[in-house]
Amino acid sequence: MSSIQVVHSIDSCRLAVSKVRAQGHSVGFVPTMGALHNGHGSLIAAAVKECDFVVVSIFVNPLQFGASEDLSDYPSTFQQDCDLASTLGADLVFAPDTTEMASSTSLTTVSVAELSQRWEGASRLTHFDGVSTIVTKLFSIVGECKAYFGEKDFQQLAIVRRLAADLSLPVTVVGCPTVRTESGLALSSRNSYLSESQLQDATVISEALYTGKELIESGETDVVQIEQVITARVVQAERLSLDYVAVVDPTSLEPIDEVEGEVRLLIAAAVGETRLIDNMAAALGVVSNG
Ligand code: AMP
Repeated sequence: MSSIQVVHSIDSCRLAVSKVRAQGHSVGFVPTMGALHNGHGSLIAAAVKECDFVVVSIFVNPLQFGASEDLSDYPSTFQQDCDLASTLGADLVFAPDTTEMASSTSLTTVSVAELSQRWEGASRLTHFDGVSTIVTKLFSIVGECKAYFGEKDFQQLAIVRRLAADLSLPVTVVGCPTVRTESGLALSSRNSYLSESQLQDATVISEALYTGKELIESGETDVVQIEQVITARVVQAERLSLDYVAVVDPTSLEPIDEVEGEVRLLIAAAVGETRLIDNMAAALGVVSNG
């Protein structure tokens, strides 16, 4: 059993954080939807390393799920999550009530234009408005902090950076590298939906990205060609259903025609009923970590 402090109300979270801030301590914040794995763990560890007091929020945000998505099935491992956060040195778990966080009477939506419409936004129409609204609310509750997000959700990271900058929020957004299994599969809470054979199938997603990355690093600049090679790798694996493959500018996430400098490879594909996303950095002639 962990001894970490757990609070459920917005007021209790504000009070706990304002007390430590008044003592001059820096605050780190790791927003999550729970079902924590080592990917989340890496964010918590980074926050603990850089900040005096670390808050981990656990909130399955209903606003970011579409009507036909997995909100009611989303995995929940609350006690294990608190134990992991505590073991890694976090100080406070904020697990807010849905009624307080996402009140059905709220009239306010935060929406980051352009960045939210493409890629994941095209398949999940209200997803990023749901993310942006709740992340803004969490930032307003926790206040001045360094907030840690995974590159695993690369578009989300770009949107959160943008909303923090556009709204002049006192939050420094820190991006952390994607944690993968030995076979390359990006860790995700949704991997728990996959059978053993589906987990095998899912490794093709990162293999396809590595193939694209190697192609760029060996000098290929033609984006059509690169996307074709990545697509072919996924299509060969018959049990995957590809949503999109894209080579994009790493800041604007706009599609590009020709690779110059650093780019980001994005992919979304379903394994059975489970939709997975992944992405990787690549740069012409440069071997970098994804
Ligand atoms: P989630 O609980 O899925 O909303 O994720 C909470 C945070 O953990 C987000 O910032 C994610 O990008 C991050 N995250 C999820 N999976 C990974 C991973 N495999 N590596 C690094 N960060 C991750």
